[in-house]
Amino acid sequence: MEFSSKLLENAVYEMSQLPGIGKRTALRLVLHLLKQPEERTELLAHAVLKLRGEVNFCKNCYNISDTEVCEICANPKRDETMVCVVEDIRDVMAIENTSQYNGLYHVLGGKISPMEGVGPQDLNIVPLIKKVKDGTIKELILALSSTMEGDTTNFYIYKQLEGQDVTTSTIARGISVGDELEYADEVTLGRSIINRVPFESSIKAN
Ligand SMILES: [Zn+2]
Repeated sequence: MEFSSKLLENAVYEMSQLPGIGKRTALRLVLHLLKQPEERTELLAHAVLKLRGEVNFCKNCYNISDTEVCEICANPKRDETMVCVVEDIRDVMAIENTSQYNGLYHVLGGKISPMEGVGPQDLNIVPLIKKVKDGTIKELILALSSTMEGDTTNFYIYKQLEGQDVTTSTIARGISVGDELEYADEVTLGRSIINRVPFESSIKAN
């Protein structure tokens, strides 16, 4: 792509670093911003910088939160004996939308992926194991995607918990999960949480 302006080229390049944004889309977005009043760009830039600079993760579940402990963890009506393990905040939002789950969450921040150089140490797995060993959790629901990375991560966690007094279950397969969890319709996702199966039987089924 040939640019008549270095400023434009830089802006397009930075925009195209976002996931799912190719050079053409980046150019369209940048030109769109130029057509808008200048304060629109300022508001956008300010919101992103403020988020980046001030973002806070719940010290209990690692969900993005404006407070030290997120609203879900701080809610006394939630069942703290049940923890749903998810990849990121999008999954928390999707499951919350179903209104079928009243436990807490644990946000891993990704999945184990040797291809992308993500190992267990890069995720919030150690604090999860520690939480289980502390003894309040009775059931752990593994709600990662049914991709190879999701399976690997589920299995890794399961192995780490061997010998612990905790029930490990997984949400029903055959529905869109993980990367697609946010797109699964609420009824299907809600049902898959209610109809979750023991993790052992899910390994045998594969
Ligand atoms: Zn929390």
